[in-house]
Parts: sequence; C-alpha cells; structure tokens
Amino acid sequence: MALISPESLDRVKQTADIVEVVSAHTDLRRQGARWVGLCPFHEERTPSFSVDAQEKLYHCFGCGVGGDVIKFVEEKDGLGFAEAVELLADRYGVELEREQEDPRAEARRQQRRRLEQLLERTAAFYSSYLWESKEAGKAREYLAERGLGEEVLREFGVGYAPSAWDKILVRGQRAGFSVEELRGVGLVQRGRGGGEYDRFRSRIMFPIRDRRGRTLGFGGRAMRADQGAKYVNTAETDFFHKSQLLYGVDKAKAAIAKATRAVVVEGYTDVLALHQAGVEEAVAVMGTAITGEQVATLSGMVEEVVLALDADSAGQEAMLRAQRVAAGRKMRLRVAAMPPGEDPAEMVAEPEGAERFRTLIAGAVELNAFQVGLVLDGTDVASPAERDRALGEVAPVLAAMGETASRDDLVRQVAERLDLEPAMVMGRVVAATPTSGGPEPTRSPLGGRSDASLSPAAGRPELTSRERRERALLAMCIALPAEGGEYLARLTDAHLSPTGLRAAAWLRENPEDPASNLPHDDELTGLVTELVMLAHDEPASKESMELNFLLLDQRRIEHEIAAAGERDDYERRAALSRERAALVERIARTQRVES
Ligand SMILES: [Zn+2]
Repeated sequence: MALISPESLDRVKQTADIVEVVSAHTDLRRQGARWVGLCPFHEERTPSFSVDAQEKLYHCFGCGVGGDVIKFVEEKDGLGFAEAVELLADRYGVELEREQEDPRAEARRQQRRRLEQLLERTAAFYSSYLWESKEAGKAREYLAERGLGEEVLREFGVGYAPSAWDKILVRGQRAGFSVEELRGVGLVQRGRGGGEYDRFRSRIMFPIRDRRGRTLGFGGRAMRADQGAKYVNTAETDFFHKSQLLYGVDKAKAAIAKATRAVVVEGYTDVLALHQAGVEEAVAVMGTAITGEQVATLSGMVEEVVLALDADSAGQEAMLRAQRVAAGRKMRLRVAAMPPGEDPAEMVAEPEGAERFRTLIAGAVELNAFQVGLVLDGTDVASPAERDRALGEVAPVLAAMGETASRDDLVRQVAERLDLEPAMVMGRVVAATPTSGGPEPTRSPLGGRSDASLSPAAGRPELTSRERRERALLAMCIALPAEGGEYLARLTDAHLSPTGLRAAAWLRENPEDPASNLPHDDELTGLVTELVMLAHDEPASKESMELNFLLLDQRRIEHEIAAAGERDDYERRAALSRERAALVERIARTQRVES
C-alpha cells in the first residue's frame, strides 16, 4: 500500500498553521506562549482550550481532548487520517510524496495478525469445549437456567475453559505459538514458582470483541464457589484495554446505528438475554462505571446512551467524566435505574419482561438529574447539616453540566427541595466549577508558576492528587529527558494510573519527540499532548521530579502495607513500615530543598 511519506507528513504539520485552522472553529487569543479559547469539543463559557503554536499541538484542559493539526481536522471535519492530511496539504500547498510501507511496520502488522489468530483459535476451542465436553455440563445447565438459548450463545461465541492447568498452554505451543505470545495475549500467566499456567480454568468464557468483531480478550465467570473472583478478565495487554471496550458492540452496532441509541448494561449475560429478547442495541461495560473512552467509542454511532445500571454501583467520579465526554460530543447520557434486586437478564426472562424493559429505557432520566435525585432522596431535609452535605454533593454534578438551561432547572429543583435560595445553590455550583478555583488548590502541578486557566489541576476537578502528581512527573520526564529516562524506568503500575502507565510506556518508546507521531488512541493522545505542552512551558527541576516520584512511591508502599496486613504477613508489614518511615523522612528533606 502506498503511504504518505513521513517527510511529507512532517512538512504538512510544519507548514499548516494550527492557530489558523483552529480559529475557524473557535476564537483564540494569545496568552503567553499559548493561544487560548473556548473548547470547540465541549460546551463551556470559560476557556480551557489551548493551542501551542510552537509545538503545534492543541489540548483542552477541560475535557481532555488533544492532538496535532491533522488530528484536529480529522475530529472537526469527520475525516480519516489520509483525507485530513490531503486536505491540509492542498490548503497549504504541500506536495505529498508516497512510498512503500516500512518493512518493520509490515512485520508488526503480521505479528498482530498472528496473535489475533491465536485468540480466535482459543475462542473456537472454548466454544466447542462448552458444547462437547462432559466437564462443561454444569455450565450448560447454568446458562440454560438463565434462559439463554444455544443460538445466542453460539452467536456471541460463549465457551468454557477446562479445569486443567495447562490445556491452552499445551495446545497453543503445539500449534506453534511461543509461551511469550500466549502470555502476551493474556491466556497464560506466570506462577510464583516461575512456571506458566492457563489464566482461565473452569470458567464460562465470554470472548470480548472490538467493533469489527475481532476477539481481543475474554471475560470468565467462575463455575465453582471455591474459585476466588467470580469474574476474571484478560489482564491489560497490548490488545486488551478494558476501559475502551464494550462487550457485544460488534453484534449491537447495526441496531445501535438504527436506533441512534445504545443501552449499556453491567453483565455479559444481560447483553445476551437482551439480544435474545430483541433489544439488540445492548452492550456491557466490564466494571461498574462507564468510562469516557467507552462513551467516545459509542460517539459517532449514537446520539444517546442509556445506562441500565444498578444505581448504587455507578462510580460518581467516573460518571462525571463520562458526562463531560458525552457533552463534548453532543451526546445525551440517560439513566434507567433497574428495580432493586432485579437485573436486565432476569427482567426479560419473565413474561412481557422485554416490554417492561423497553418502557424503563424510554423513561430514563438525564444522568445529572438522576445523580441529583439520588442525593436528594437520601437527604433528611429537616437537618441543616444533612442539607449542607447534600449541597456539597450536588454542586460538582451541576458544575460539570456547564452553563445550560437544564442546569438552571436543576438548580431551582435543588433549591426547592432543600429549602434554600436558588442564588445560594448557584453560588456553591460556581465555587465547584473548575476555573473558578474548586476545592483543590490551583497551584501548578509542576510546582512552578500558577496559572489557573491552564493548569490541569484547575481545569479538571476530578483529577486525583495522584493523577496530578503523575502528570507533573511525566511532563518533567519530557522536559528533562536525561533524568526522565531514569524515572520512566522506575515507574511501575504500583505508581501510576492505567492511563499514566500507558503514557509512560509511550514516552519510553518515543523519547525524542513524543508528540511527533501521535498514538492511535484518543485518551492517550489527549494525555500525551497535555504532557508535551506542560513540558514546554512549565518549569521542571530535578528536585521536584524527585519529590513527585517519592510521593507516588509512598502510595505504592501504603498499598503494599495494606496488602501485607490482609495476608497477616506481619513481618513484611513491619519491614514496609520501616521503609515508609525512611521515605517520609526523604520526602520531608526533598520538600525543604524544593521550597
Ligand atoms: Zn474541551
């Protein structure tokens, strides 16, 4: 395939005027080294969108989107990568050269295809094992009791993992796959003794596929009570990012496109039961809360997402984040609370259950109104302290909505229910609004100049202190690459969030210029552009790097201490406590040096 040469791509990026391109969608004004304006991707009245004309990147500190000029055109004009490049080349008079593909890229693609085949083969094996083995008899019974017919189970490729420790390991190797490959796709794992064994045993297996129907990983449901976790998923691999995938999206996409709506449920079997009952636009999250990435996956397909979830299990912070992503993409997020003690699969198994479910979905309420309602319903309005607590909880929800008419409605409702003046409620909402300085100090995450409108600490109240710390450290790894390399080598998943971990891996692989070729992943791209921009104009020092690292390391130790305590491993806990004391001492010393 003839590709646009990397030199041409560079020339397009260098020649295209990113400020001019972005200005067609929002007014930008200069502020220091950057250009700032209202974000063209989400609704806001205070600018949190900025363009770095020198690095040629854009990033929104409100909703987290980011990228280079090509990415901007892709997103805003709805174009594919090559089309966006052609459009910019045309506009800025760049002659595009094309070339044969890099043989290494071809080799990588082939390796990926090989691993995809490994996953497909394994899925086929699990499926035949479910239908043909004696061992899977109980699993077949369980699925039948849930009312799931063979047709839908076969369509979704549901299978069964044998109880043996090495069935997949042995079969895979016999078919010519290496242990590394089997481990790379998460099918086998290494035991304490160093040997490898099958990750999934005695479990009903649900292949998790992407939109195009490729199997990327599995969810496994335990069949015995003594098996530990009821559900086990494929661990995060190069292929499998749980937070981006939606179970059943390959089978649901046609129905979703037709209905311009997706119904999001919590369980694999809920998706199967709904599909069987004719609610084919159902997909499931693998965890309790929908993520911004999952909302982004659906955007482009839908105008509305209805969450049919157990209300209490929905993580508040994650919901707020999803809400922001949805608002940025002009999508509605609504919630249909399931009746207590009932899940969608149970509901549709009953006579006229599918009708009841559809009615429930039709009556779903806006996510914000739902969250506010939950808080108000749980508040004893007779108690001033309770009313104050309720106000504290609803304020960030209302703040995340942006300045809209539906927010004004909700503010009035809250005021009425809590018997307060609307202006007083509004005051709390404004105080909880990111750019007006929320509960978190707006000190720059890099410990330097404080710029409330630009620092992510101010722009995203849902960032935890750990996330701010990891961002600060990663940005400094870019600013000071020599020291950065050392820290990047030391950072593990015990220090970083999943996205932070992926960003760190990206920086390790692209140490020279992390934003010159952006990753094919919106969330990662957003974070990488943010880090490069922060690195470009925030001060970095060895001392503040060390301090941020130590603080992240302290968190690691706290976790290990808690884990040792749970195992009743007092010796280890004592050793860790000593390690913590030494670390706290070092943190105090470093802080003195830094200030
Ligand atoms: Zn934005």
